[in-house]
Amino acid sequence: MIVHHNYSAEQIALGVDPKARFSSGQWRAICPYHQGSKQNCYFKDRHDGLPLINCFAGCTFGDITSVLIPRGLWPEPKKEAPPSNVHTLTDKTDMQCFCWGHEKYLKLGIPTTTTDRSLYRQYKRVLYSPFTPGEVVEMHMFCLTYSADVKRGETPTPEEDSKFMTFQKVTYEKGVPYAW
Ligand SMILES: [Zn+2]
Repeated sequence: MIVHHNYSAEQIALGVDPKARFSSGQWRAICPYHQGSKQNCYFKDRHDGLPLINCFAGCTFGDITSVLIPRGLWPEPKKEAPPSNVHTLTDKTDMQCFCWGHEKYLKLGIPTTTTDRSLYRQYKRVLYSPFTPGEVVEMHMFCLTYSADVKRGETPTPEEDSKFMTFQKVTYEKGVPYAW
């Protein structure tokens, strides 16, 4: 059996039902969506792509994957790429970091390059349109998750550290109390 991805029929079936059984090339488990008493949900690996899912009680593919995704047993659907003239939160975060760094240099009297100065002006124009409430909430959620991870003793990556510093500053400026 060839499984090309991280979501095998076995992983999913045992993930939703520890008593899942394998027979005739497929896994049978209690349906994670309607959660009946019978193992009438089938998961079968394919040689390409994700496993086939079929609930004989009639739940749809969408019903079932909607409960698998939050449990990490099915991939998130790919989001459509935003139009190129829309700046994503990550873009804005990077720009904001750059601008703060640049301002710090100016304050300290450290000379900056012409490229940096022109980038700074360009970024400031984009950032002049402020973060949307949705973006601020997204940043706030990141900060909460980050703090919880740190409290649990996990070591964040340098990228997460810098995101946290930036997001914390933005959410603070936007009046979102950091410790909700
Ligand atoms: Zn079902």
